Amino acid sequence: MSVLSIVLPAYNEEQNIENTATVLAELLEKHGIDYELVFVSDGSVDNTYAEILKAAAKNPRVKGAQFSRNFGKEAGIFAGLELTTGDAVIVMDCDLQHPPEVIPQMWEKWNDGAEVVEGIKSDRGRESLGYKLSAGLFYKIMSRLIKIDMNASSDFKLLDRKVVKVLLELPERNTFFRALTFWAGFRRDTVEYEVQERKFGKSKWSLWSLMRYAITNATSFSTMPLQIVTVVGLISILGSIVLFIQTLVRYFMGNSVEGFTTVILLILIIGGFIMLSLGIIGHYIARVYEEVKGRPKYIISQVTDNVSGNVVGAWKR
Ligand code: UDP
Ligand code: MG
Repeated sequence: MSVLSIVLPAYNEEQNIENTATVLAELLEKHGIDYELVFVSDGSVDNTYAEILKAAAKNPRVKGAQFSRNFGKEAGIFAGLELTTGDAVIVMDCDLQHPPEVIPQMWEKWNDGAEVVEGIKSDRGRESLGYKLSAGLFYKIMSRLIKIDMNASSDFKLLDRKVVKVLLELPERNTFFRALTFWAGFRRDTVEYEVQERKFGKSKWSLWSLMRYAITNATSFSTMPLQIVTVVGLISILGSIVLFIQTLVRYFMGNSVEGFTTVILLILIIGGFIMLSLGIIGHYIARVYEEVKGRPKYIISQVTDNVSGNVVGAWKR
């Protein structure tokens, strides 16, 4: 019989673990799905890991790991994938904002032959202005770039073991799970779901961390920003040719362009563009630097007894 693994990254979610583990266990048992729950505490500083241990003591199908510090949700997802043994793996938030009722539908589609089942947000919930201006805007641009609706897509998805294997074999450290599953290809299907309200605790994202997430992902997934630098450069060269000719013509006609204002404005504008371009290039150099250093994506400090293999320590370089 096939086994379904569920990966649940958790950062300071002590109030959610027990509830989530019970809700999922009941649901999966009701549907007769053989399962395991993999909680990854992403360097939580509250009792999240203690709660995971408690849940594991109660239910042998629950296992988990603790990171040595906060490595971010992306790392949590990949560590979770690494710990799974199931034939299909679902990744979902452990605050139950991804409704568990969708799991049986995903499972069914997998049984019907889909290798990636995407959870698509049917309503986008109440997205704040801050979100729309930061991550929302970024997702719009990304959607154009990679031709997927990033605003509607999420980390809630089911992956066949084959796809998990592909993702785990990728050598890069800066990963973007949501887009990589598209990149990987495979036979896909979708299910729609409505984002639920968070019952316990609060969102871990600040506007700032969302922005950082967006920028990191943009530069780790696409070289478009670099090409934009080239295009802006070309445009300013064209502009400068026009100005060059105009200035010369006026000079020879005896009424050269006056004054300082033009010069100052030009210096400011061009200076701004140059700094911005340098910043963009800098981001790529930073990514390259991180990749070259080859540090692991995450460090596991503890695992529950039922985790097999030696995974504690700096893992997967
Ligand atoms: N999360 C994580 N590491 C982090 C931040 C978040 O593992 O550094 C987890 C968090 O515990 C939750 C999921 O990622 O299970 C989604 O986070 P959250 O609910 O805070 O985000 P939102 O739903 O508001 O987008
Ligand atoms: Mg949430």
